[in-house]
Amino acid sequence: MKEGVRVSQRRGPPRNLRQLRRLIREKAIKWGADLVGFADAKRFNRYGEGNRPPSETKTVIVLGIWMEDQILDLWLHTPSWKSENKPSRAFEDEILRGTSLRISLMLEQEGFWAEPAPYEPGLYLKEAGVLAGLGVIGKNNLLITEEYGPRIRLRALNTNASLKADQIIEGVDYCRECNMCVKACPANALSSGKYNKKDCLSYCENNLTEISRYSVLWCMECSSVCPVGKSRERKSIPPNMKPQ
Ligand code: SF4
Ligand code: SF4
Repeated sequence: MKEGVRVSQRRGPPRNLRQLRRLIREKAIKWGADLVGFADAKRFNRYGEGNRPPSETKTVIVLGIWMEDQILDLWLHTPSWKSENKPSRAFEDEILRGTSLRISLMLEQEGFWAEPAPYEPGLYLKEAGVLAGLGVIGKNNLLITEEYGPRIRLRALNTNASLKADQIIEGVDYCRECNMCVKACPANALSSGKYNKKDCLSYCENNLTEISRYSVLWCMECSSVCPVGKSRERKSIPPNMKPQ
């Protein structure tokens, strides 16, 4: 919590950590996330200082949102994008940002410290997803989840609440008999058996799909071809939102 900002504590008997963990999961899903994982902060000790959570962190909570429609991956493409050398956030990130802020606030009302993890410097989000038991890294260098394949975007938040960690998934290799993303990549950025970030970014930045004056889509070939989780049904559209 930032200095000078006070959060009033929730009234009523304190929740135990088990109840709190269950509540976090329920609320995160209600507030827009599709996946929620918990990682013991010690699992991040393998990374350098800038890519670890702050020392007071006991648990890293990782939230994922299913990219069920490309509209979620639209990036606001402002005139300053080229000069700043980075696009502003995509829609789906705004949803997860809001969700992680609400979860942080809820944890503070329960008497814990919590805050969304920054991007730069920050955690390696895909690795955080692995450490929180959400999936494994695929040949396309993305987190592959059982439920949604790689069509998932992530956000993390740190807290000093000691919440039970999810198990890291082991012994699962979705890519053993598959090479679809490697073949589909228009930049050949996966063909050496290792992700070539430079070639990928160079291709992506020079081949943005313009949707409107200020909105673009980045290349998503390596995630859209992946067969894992592809049979997932679209969430039903509420009756009052169906086209007449
Ligand atoms: S985002 Fe596009 S260019 Fe980059 S690795 Fe995936 S398919 Fe290749
Ligand atoms: S497309 Fe195939 S090889 Fe690529 S990540 Fe998905 S399962 Fe693995």
